[in-house]
Amino acid sequence: MTHTPIPPNQAASTTVLPSTQRPDSQGRFGKFGGKYVPETLMPALSELEAAFYQYRNDPEFQQEFQGLLQDYVGRPSPLYFAERLTQHYAKPDGSGAQIYLKREDLNHTGAHKINNALGQVLLAKRMGKPRIIAETGAGQHGVATATVCARFGLNCIIYMGVHDMERQALNVFRMRLMGAEVRPVQAGTGTLKDATSEAIRDWVTNVETTHYILGSVAGPHPYPMIVREFQTIIGQETRQQCHAKWGGLPDILLACVGGGSNAIGLFHEFVDEPTVRMIGIEAGGEGLNSEKHAATLTRGRVGVLHGAMSYLLQDEDGQVIEPHSVSAGLDYPGVGPEHSYLKDLGRAEYYSITDQQAMDAFQQLSQLEGIIPALETAHAIAYLEPLCSQLSGNPRIVINCSGRGDKDVQTVAKFLNPS
Ligand SMILES: *Cc1c(COP(=O)(O)O)cnc(C)c1O
Repeated sequence: MTHTPIPPNQAASTTVLPSTQRPDSQGRFGKFGGKYVPETLMPALSELEAAFYQYRNDPEFQQEFQGLLQDYVGRPSPLYFAERLTQHYAKPDGSGAQIYLKREDLNHTGAHKINNALGQVLLAKRMGKPRIIAETGAGQHGVATATVCARFGLNCIIYMGVHDMERQALNVFRMRLMGAEVRPVQAGTGTLKDATSEAIRDWVTNVETTHYILGSVAGPHPYPMIVREFQTIIGQETRQQCHAKWGGLPDILLACVGGGSNAIGLFHEFVDEPTVRMIGIEAGGEGLNSEKHAATLTRGRVGVLHGAMSYLLQDEDGQVIEPHSVSAGLDYPGVGPEHSYLKDLGRAEYYSITDQQAMDAFQQLSQLEGIIPALETAHAIAYLEPLCSQLSGNPRIVINCSGRGDKDVQTVAKFLNPS
């Protein structure tokens, strides 16, 4: 794969609006985002937005949120210097990238998703909504939601495609164990897109009593803004940890992109820092020319899905193309609208990594660092291969280690030994 990275100073000369104006009052990031939803949902979105503005700086809300992030989730997550991975990519003259991992895999439930689920459940409680619904693909967001619902004694219903329920049986069991009801979705191909549509349908019907905990920086406004806020802790901690370790900023941020929440969580704190280069990695599946991929930003066209305008995998007639990735968490045909905005303005760069490359990186990180990453995360790790050879000097790279790979070992075993 050949890539022409955008040099950081060129990125800095673009006109990305400051973070306080992203999104604007209409929920737009440039032309992206917005609220393309049935009329019946408009009041619920307004109510959610009002609650968010009421509580985001409320001391009591913040105290409860920060307290649980610390004692329940286990934050702050470490910023770990990956010494052997760094050595692996060192140049013959000893120079080379210094590679750090932001260890979101060490969070309770094993990924970054709990940050958002926790923030939203605290909002739901204050809005007086006793019933929680969510969509899930790989089951990670479903598990995070079931977890916080158990913690607060709320009624929890998770929509999940039948195909995904088969692929991720262990996560279905975990959700049920914590008292959630998992509703199988037969429609379409029985994957995340169909589960999301079904969750939106439920919300339309039960909006009075129900809060919908959306799992990524996608969907209608205010979700991309709210989920970003609850994930921003990743970048805030990273800034402090970089400061403590070397007294400066990171040079490059690297994260995988499904809907885009772990990437935005890391990037947001640094978007206004022109020297920090930001790279998002999508799922290239069996290759960008194979039709079997989930590279929405690289290969999609602008359209509307699940309430927002963004890049989207669609055919000539505007029908959503079924995405493919070996990693269920990246297997989504849309992407958060802010990523579309950052891409169009050249502030962030987006590339793709194939199933095979991700599998190689999965094993590489396991063997070099004793850290088994999620297959989603392995996509970001894999991009070190093309990236490091392009770099000169000793730039400091922070990779968002978005999740742990225990959930993926069976998938990997099958991929390595098909039969
Ligand atoms: C869900 C998931 C992702 C993809 O979702 P984003 O919203 O793009 O972050 C990435 N990594 C892990 C470990 C996940 O569970």
